[in-house]
Amino acid sequence: MEEIGHWINGRRVAGTSGRFADVFNPATGEVQARVALASVEEMTQAIAAAAAAQPGWAATNPQRRARVMMAFGALINANMDRLAEAVSREHGKTLPDARGDVQRGLEVVEVCMGAPAMLKGEFMDSAGPGIDLYAMRQPLGVVAGITPFNFPAMIPLWKMSPALAAGNAVILKPSERTPSTALILAELLKEAGLPDGVLQVVNGDKLAVDTILDDETVQAVGFVGSTPIAQYIYGRAATNGKRAQCFGGAKNHMLIMPDADLDKAADALIGAGFGAAGERCMAVSVAVPVGEETADRLIEKLVPKIERLKVGPYTGGDDVDYGPLITGAAMTRVRGLIDSGVAQGADLVVDGRDFRLQGYENGFFLGPSLFDRVTPDMDIYKEEIFGPVLTTVRAGSYDDALDLVMKNDYGNGTAIFTADGDTARDFASRVNVGMVGINFPIPVPLSYFSFGGWKKSAFGDLNQYGPDAFRFYTRTKTVTARWFSGIKEGAALNFKALD
Ligand code: NAD
Repeated sequence: MEEIGHWINGRRVAGTSGRFADVFNPATGEVQARVALASVEEMTQAIAAAAAAQPGWAATNPQRRARVMMAFGALINANMDRLAEAVSREHGKTLPDARGDVQRGLEVVEVCMGAPAMLKGEFMDSAGPGIDLYAMRQPLGVVAGITPFNFPAMIPLWKMSPALAAGNAVILKPSERTPSTALILAELLKEAGLPDGVLQVVNGDKLAVDTILDDETVQAVGFVGSTPIAQYIYGRAATNGKRAQCFGGAKNHMLIMPDADLDKAADALIGAGFGAAGERCMAVSVAVPVGEETADRLIEKLVPKIERLKVGPYTGGDDVDYGPLITGAAMTRVRGLIDSGVAQGADLVVDGRDFRLQGYENGFFLGPSLFDRVTPDMDIYKEEIFGPVLTTVRAGSYDDALDLVMKNDYGNGTAIFTADGDTARDFASRVNVGMVGINFPIPVPLSYFSFGGWKKSAFGDLNQYGPDAFRFYTRTKTVTARWFSGIKEGAALNFKALD
């Protein structure tokens, strides 16, 4: 059986802890590899080696660091199919979706090719007589990225690219369920010219993460994953004096106004609700049609589209719409949530629980499910389902629908489908959610903006990628410099204004 190790000091190394986690083929349910789980010693050594490599990298001029990003981007393009295959093999998502996973990470690398422009700092000449003030943006040192299973290429690229371009060394701890893609990315970065030790990919579980959180060398932690873990990591990192930004789970609502183009809204809900088997933090999991008639017409349009969805393995051809869930435990959990929705009185219009695929009976597949008449007190509304389940909460009015979104614990993404610019503008302005789509179901901002939710979808400061990432991965040092010219002798003991 394949054994997946770590990437330390510019090469693949085997784990030495003797601890492993199974990596499944989600389509067959078989264990296809095992990944080493780092010990405290392995992680501590990886951090120490990164600390030794970082000053040289920070001293490399920003343009040269940006050229490594340019070469890296070219290599990602050249290896697109290999990377997508690695994503699909462990995650189970379709190949076109896996290419999207790589592409949305590559776009962040592209922005990092222009990193010097983001690192320039500020300057004020003659702030006082002979006095200049300038603020430098300096790298933090060693920073860590801890990433989830659902975007094995994109999120590691979001985490490491700006951090590296800003002159930091990075410890990347990918999800133990999808560990291979990050190792390929590390190989490509070496080929692109990144010095050894500047990026360490250390596989592991809670022990590896806790070691990062308690290690004094690590200056900042960027986390993406579920809300309870995000909150835990934020708390422990902050207590230990680290900078932390921790992005969590979601419950994304899409409002469908009576004047919306319902065909387009239904197509958007199918893609955003069931793509990647619903395992996206920006998946739309709650449809909120406004008015009974809108709701009836929407459900009527959704049902045949859902029944036509083709579920299968990523090797199953171009017409497969989505694949299996990540683990058997995830599948059982989602099935249990569907059961709870039925028990708590929601109307299960399409039932995907009994889906079976010939030849893949042990795979972690679930058919698509659609609930109508869901209410906010039900578990299927309160919990992030993270599966191929679309729930519908009927709202009596726009204000009721807005109120529903506003009262939800999560605030990652939301969308409104309407033909009325005034309503759309009002929604975008008032809603307490970090990313808003107008007639656009998955409003993941492009890489020169930045990504981040509100409420329980994010803990800490600043967003991921874009200009915010360069603020997060640098700290400001402000210098007040005076070169004497015509200054009278004698000490000044008062706290002086610069005049
Ligand atoms: P997860 O929280 O289980 O794991 C994320 C990372 O944390 C992994 O690297 C894992 O090894 C580590 N981890 C898990 N348990 C830990 C513990 N007890 N202590 C320390 N570290 C621990 O998340 P997941 O299941 O891999 O990913 C799915 C979740 O991620 C969903 O909730 C989804 O909404 C969220 N997500 C959020 C965003 C975003 O940007 N907001 C993006 C993608 C995914």
